Amino acid sequence: MIVSTLHSAGRRLIDNLVGHEVQLPAALLARFPELREARFRRGGLPPLVGGWCLGAGSVAGITLWRTIWLDSRAPLEPELLLHEIRHVHQFGASPLFPLAYAWESLRRGYRHNRFEADARSFAARRLLEAGSSPLSPS
Ligand SMILES: [Zn+2]
Repeated sequence: MIVSTLHSAGRRLIDNLVGHEVQLPAALLARFPELREARFRRGGLPPLVGGWCLGAGSVAGITLWRTIWLDSRAPLEPELLLHEIRHVHQFGASPLFPLAYAWESLRRGYRHNRFEADARSFAARRLLEAGSSPLSPS
C-alpha cells in the first residue's frame, strides 16, 4: 500500500515535470507524415515555462529538439502540430538554433521572430497543400 502510494505520487511528480507521452491519431499521421519526426508529450513544465517567458500562464505548444510538449488542454490541431514540427526542423538545421532563436526573440519579440514567422508560414502552406485552411477545422 505504501509502495503503491509512493509509486503514484512519484508518477504524479514526473507527470508534473515532464508530462506524459501522447500518441497522435493514425489519420493525422497519415495526412501529415512529418509529424512522425517528433515525440509528443502533454503537460509538464515546458509549456508553463514557455508561457512565463511570454508573460502568459502557458503556451499551447513548445518544442525542445525532437520533443514537442503540448499544454494539457491544447487540442491536437494540425496547425499547432505543424507549427511545432517546423521548430523540430529548425533545431535539426543547426546546433546554434536555441541561441539564434533567443537572440531573435530579444531583438524582435516573439511575434516577429523569423523562426516563428517561418513556422507559421510552414503550417499554413502544409494545411493548404492538404486541402484545409488554418481557419477551418480539419
Ligand atoms: Zn513557435
